[in-house]
Amino acid sequence: MKSPCIGACESSGSMCVGCQRTTKEIAEWQSYSDAQRDQIMAEIKGETSSHECPVCQAKTQCDIQNGKSRCWCFDIDKRDSENVVKSGVCMCRKCLSALPIL
Ligand SMILES: [Zn+2]
Repeated sequence: MKSPCIGACESSGSMCVGCQRTTKEIAEWQSYSDAQRDQIMAEIKGETSSHECPVCQAKTQCDIQNGKSRCWCFDIDKRDSENVVKSGVCMCRKCLSALPIL
């Protein structure tokens, strides 16, 4: 089965620090189609993106900007983004997962 897991799975605030999937994505991974898995992996790798991360400028994906009603970031614990640039756009998974959990 396709998986972005790099064997460093360690959940931190409902997000894996290794493969940057949310615990919801990991839990539901087996029920996803190959197309859904490809989509999520492409988003994690920045191959499909809606904008650039305001912190590291990496390409990242916000599902809300793509017209969906919810985003992957709804599924993780709220992070302390107090000291991070307020630009109104989402950070990438990597930057978000590095922030302290509230
Ligand atoms: Zn970033």
